Amino acid sequence: MGSLKIENIKKSFGSVDVLKGIDLDVTDGEFVVFVGPSGCGKSTLLRIIAGLEDSTSGKVLIDGDNVGNVPPAKRGIAMVFQTYALYPHLTVKNNMSLGLKQAGEPADEIARRVGIASSMLSLEPYLERRPAELSGGQRQRVAIGRAVVREPKLFLFDEPLSNLDAALRVNTRLEIAQLHRRLAATMIYVTHDQVEAMTLADKIVVLNNGQIEQVGAPMELYNSPANEFVAGFIGSPK
Ligand code: ADP
Ligand code: MG
Repeated sequence: MGSLKIENIKKSFGSVDVLKGIDLDVTDGEFVVFVGPSGCGKSTLLRIIAGLEDSTSGKVLIDGDNVGNVPPAKRGIAMVFQTYALYPHLTVKNNMSLGLKQAGEPADEIARRVGIASSMLSLEPYLERRPAELSGGQRQRVAIGRAVVREPKLFLFDEPLSNLDAALRVNTRLEIAQLHRRLAATMIYVTHDQVEAMTLADKIVVLNNGQIEQVGAPMELYNSPANEFVAGFIGSPK
């Protein structure tokens, strides 16, 4: 299970209205991409979904439960950041294990999950290395592995490819797509890159200036953009 319902989410920082009333339904197992220009509110919306930030008004329901009422460890959400956010002093294995240890999982269960995730993400040769001894692509795979071992029902990705060079972006994107097929988990993926959006999404949510411009399947948006902004952003022919 990993369904999500967003009801009229608004967020202001001081007098600035960053999210102006967002409504969205995500069904279990869906791959949803939030796309929009820098500063339109994508990361803020993702943090509100994760329960890392409170909205000014509105509700986020995960499998029917208001996310704010569920303790962070029980939300079944794992987030992957643009900057990887790994612990520099811990090995790859320990970066992936730490959250499970803190949650009180037994050692054999931790070993089992780390084994599966490192095999899925081709991380076995690097388990004893520290982040500084890895390339950017390998670091991001560790960050993704750390999310996978938690067996979340909802994955949140915030521009996970932005710090990678072009070839690695393609590879890592394909790995994320493969992960989605294997795990059948719900994934929400933020990007400002329309190629990532078009290739990964079951459903694209086009955001602009704190509002949703259009929601639809990639080809639906491409063929029938709701307005000039969507057409320009998705690259529809004029
Ligand atoms: P995106 O991820 O789409 O680039 P963000 O959600 O990070 O956009 O930011 C949306 C807007 O909210 C920006 O104008 C940003 O400056 C502002 N903002 C984000 N976080 C804060 C904060 N903690 N305090 C004040 N303003 C913020
Ligand atoms: Mg952002």
